[in-house]
Amino acid sequence: MSISISPVTDTTNVDPAELAKFSDLAHRWWDTESEFRPLHQINPLRLDWINNIAPLAGQRVLDIGCGGGILTDAMARKGAHALGIDLATKSLKVAQLHALEAQTPRVQYREISAEALAAEQPGNFDVVTCMEMLEHVPDPASIVRACSALVKPGGWVFFSTVNRSPKAFAFAILGAEYILNLLPRGTHEYAKFIRPSELAGWARHADLDLQHTRGLSYNPITRHYAMGSDTSVNYLLATQKAFV
Ligand code: SAH
Repeated sequence: MSISISPVTDTTNVDPAELAKFSDLAHRWWDTESEFRPLHQINPLRLDWINNIAPLAGQRVLDIGCGGGILTDAMARKGAHALGIDLATKSLKVAQLHALEAQTPRVQYREISAEALAAEQPGNFDVVTCMEMLEHVPDPASIVRACSALVKPGGWVFFSTVNRSPKAFAFAILGAEYILNLLPRGTHEYAKFIRPSELAGWARHADLDLQHTRGLSYNPITRHYAMGSDTSVNYLLATQKAFV
């Protein structure tokens, strides 16, 4: 007997406990003072960075692990035709409802894995974003390969995640979850954090050339984030699909 896995229903690269964490909070995605405050705060910074490198107007953009659509929505408002995908049903419903209420143009949401969409629509996107998601999946390299398959040659793939460094443990887990209560306890697991060199390696193996690296740092006194060169906690990579 042979078992075949349909690409559309193949959701093996997912941790149900991770999805449940986000589903439980789904009703608060658009509350800027909620657990999602950090994502709302960093959103204009990452949006500008992406839009400067790959101007979004008129582009086909895919946002993988979109959650409630904080970035997807903002990219659509910059003029992109944006599709957000996630595997948490509740979050997608919240994203859709927000788009309806806020009358966001050119935005769509779908419950499908990155790997399944890659099988369905290879090379179909000008820009792919995958933000704050890789540290929540069992096999992040598989997501990186799917991103590469989804973007057209010369197109851009943007990643952001948390570094696996002592400073990230101190800031992203102890600081954010235990001292400042910015995030619920258990949001992040240290072993799942990813060093920039590891992510760059997976990207390179998937024909994604690393072009830019930025860090995001949080100032607990001013309660503000800034983008800079310090990649020791949160960081972003901009990669470009090779013409192979
Ligand atoms: N990218 C969004 C949300 C980050 S939170 C932003 O930066 O604003 C992490 C998201 O990843 C959650 O919405 C969670 O449901 C989603 N996620 C976790 N595992 C996933 C998987 N295997 N496939 C798709 N989405 C996943």
